[in-house]
Amino acid sequence: MVEPKIICVTGGKGGTGKTLVAVNLAILFKNRGFKVLLIDGDVENPNTYLLLNAKLKNKTEVLYFLPKIIEDKCTKCGLCAENCETHALLYIKDSYPIPISTVCSGCKLCYKICPTNAIEPDLKVIGWTYTASAFNIDLFLGELKPAEARSAVIVNKLMENLENVIKTEPEKYDIVILDTAPGAHCDVEELLSGADLVIPVTEPTRFGKLDLLRIIELIDLLKKEHKAIVNRSSLLGYKDKFLKELEEIGIEILGDIPLDEEIVSSYCQGIPLMEEKSKFDRDGAGYKSFEIIFENLIKWGEISK
Ligand code: SF4
Ligand code: SF4
Repeated sequence: MVEPKIICVTGGKGGTGKTLVAVNLAILFKNRGFKVLLIDGDVENPNTYLLLNAKLKNKTEVLYFLPKIIEDKCTKCGLCAENCETHALLYIKDSYPIPISTVCSGCKLCYKICPTNAIEPDLKVIGWTYTASAFNIDLFLGELKPAEARSAVIVNKLMENLENVIKTEPEKYDIVILDTAPGAHCDVEELLSGADLVIPVTEPTRFGKLDLLRIIELIDLLKKEHKAIVNRSSLLGYKDKFLKELEEIGIEILGDIPLDEEIVSSYCQGIPLMEEKSKFDRDGAGYKSFEIIFENLIKWGEISK
């Protein structure tokens, strides 16, 4: 029984091209005969399905637990508030506790320990998960409800769905590609933690370098192997200097992707650049760069079929 290899594509800042990389790597694996699952964990801005021109289906609500105090049953003992780690229950002696939803973690401890069953779940929809399929790639995608803050709950749900698939059908996928949100916060950490290999994507600017260093700090803390991709590497002729700077600080590079009109065209058409049936130029700079990156990735991850 062989479980899938999990590759996480991430980036310290937005707009570096993470999704471009994640989608095209998924396509390259599929072209080679791998069974591929792509997970879009950028739940505040999920757009992999647009690049894949995929129709989302199986919309499923993600519910979040908040406590609701049933005053008829509450004896005002204060046990729930005493045990709430995040101090999300405001309690004054001889009064009913008042839940503070903004600090409640949804752990359900109060609900479990209340001696008189005076706490009931007040379930709240905070977002949705979807599935889709395109170009023979399966997609799991999460979406956070506007004005909601608990994006990590949606990301957890996506990873729970992945775990269930691995448990019930371990050989359903050979490769799982995780596309994270930008930044180095808890949503990203959740996805990085589940990965075998991590690919941070950056661009050759000072901001790009700074954000790359920030995300690598987190990847190192999680003790994950990583190699970076430099996107838009031909920007302002800064490529060689930038790659040298990264090399000097010990950051390994998987490859670089130049500015390329065909990449923009693939975005506009919703056809991934590396899709084998597409009409993109096989000798184009963007196409070639992805081929090199893919071969380097196969070697680095010792990935075979
Ligand atoms: S533990 Fe139950 S009974 Fe005690 S204050 Fe909390 S809700 Fe009321
Ligand atoms: S669910 Fe957990 S965090 Fe929220 S009020 Fe209850 S004990 Fe506190």
